[in-house]
Amino acid sequence: MPLLNSSGNETPSWAIVIHGGAGGDPQKWNDAKTKIRRTGLNRALTAGRDALAQGGNALDTVELVIRILEDDAAFNAGRGAVLTKAGKVELDASIMDGRTGSCGAVAGLTATQNPISLARRVMTETPHVLLAGKGADEFAKAQQVPLVAPDYFLSRNRVADNEPHFGTVGCVVLDSKGDLAAGTSTGGTSKKLPGRVGDSPIVGAGTYAANDTCAVSGTGVGEEYIRNSVAYDVAAQMRYADRNIDDAVSKIMRQTLDAGVGGIIAISKDGTIVMQHNTPGMSCGAANSTGRFETHLGLERGGEPLKSDGNSNTPVSSDAENAISELILQQVVDWNRGDIDAFMKPYWHSDELTFSSGGKVTRGYEKTLAGYKERYPDKQTMGALAFEKLEYQSLGSKAMQVLGIWKLERDNQPLEGRFTLILRQFPEGWKIVHDHTSKTPDETGNP
Ligand code: ASP
Repeated sequence: MPLLNSSGNETPSWAIVIHGGAGGDPQKWNDAKTKIRRTGLNRALTAGRDALAQGGNALDTVELVIRILEDDAAFNAGRGAVLTKAGKVELDASIMDGRTGSCGAVAGLTATQNPISLARRVMTETPHVLLAGKGADEFAKAQQVPLVAPDYFLSRNRVADNEPHFGTVGCVVLDSKGDLAAGTSTGGTSKKLPGRVGDSPIVGAGTYAANDTCAVSGTGVGEEYIRNSVAYDVAAQMRYADRNIDDAVSKIMRQTLDAGVGGIIAISKDGTIVMQHNTPGMSCGAANSTGRFETHLGLERGGEPLKSDGNSNTPVSSDAENAISELILQQVVDWNRGDIDAFMKPYWHSDELTFSSGGKVTRGYEKTLAGYKERYPDKQTMGALAFEKLEYQSLGSKAMQVLGIWKLERDNQPLEGRFTLILRQFPEGWKIVHDHTSKTPDETGNP
């Protein structure tokens, strides 16, 4: 059976997501603008997909894809960058390697053709993380990263874009070795004050990647992304709050940031793809090793998945319910065959399993199994088991509570009680991590 990721999809061996900026309203774009955006996204995504399919690594792919978008005048990065109040370009970019946490960034470039490549050189060729302004362009010269004359950048004015603010580009990748990388590149906000720096070159705000969690690139009002450490917050929620990537991004998009602020693309270490925005549109696209390939100018509900919960109470997907009910019904079959080892299979094989019965808590799988075997030495004693009135309650995307009634028929002596199971989803499937069972009235004498 293929492994499933946190969205319940087959785990891909590699995956890529790109964005070409949030905001603007694609419904209002004319055919020409729609077409150049789509063409640009498709071209960049195709190059990224092909590189990954041929075994390309995450960092190289991020750089390759962002260079293509920087060279495309349809986007606000590199060639198509918007202008400052003073009528000049000032380009920002960053890149991060999820394997090591190494990162590099550049800000306020005025003459470097591909800021993302210079950001990568800052990462690999200097002890620094962020180079800005004149020194950064000079570093480009020293590194033989191509410089261009100012008129190279004026294309955005020539295409007379009336929504010039948007079109920052970003790319996040999971490669077939399991490494993550992220990058973002922008001309910033149009008519910005000379010297203004946004989130795109700020690691943790506009870009972040760590192999233990995810890779993230943001687009939108950079000041808000900096204030809220947006890119890092996605990883932090996964790391410390055990949120899945969809829920982590949804929380930022719907709760942390005001509506209309921007969008996020992200990819988790298990290849789950996320594209969300709280603006009318976001140019974006995704591809992976299972054949997925798609580009969009905006997503329904801003890309928020329907089953997303982040808290509790929202019903977990019926897939999870089905998987768990199958497990539990198999337990009943195994019990009635007199096979306690098989019955115990869905329990968490860990010292941290807890089994609570008759006011006594048993800790650990082995002890719980031994306890069962002691109480039910043979098929006769085990009797005939049935479960009834099962209720499922989601405790987030990877945990579920199941309530039910058990009935045991033994020597014509019906016994009955309640149970509460807590299950968690592990890579190998759902496991019972806690089982509370009681007779009715329970053994402690409580009703
Ligand atoms: N985040 C970018 C900035 O503030 C702009 C954008 O993504 O549209 O510089």
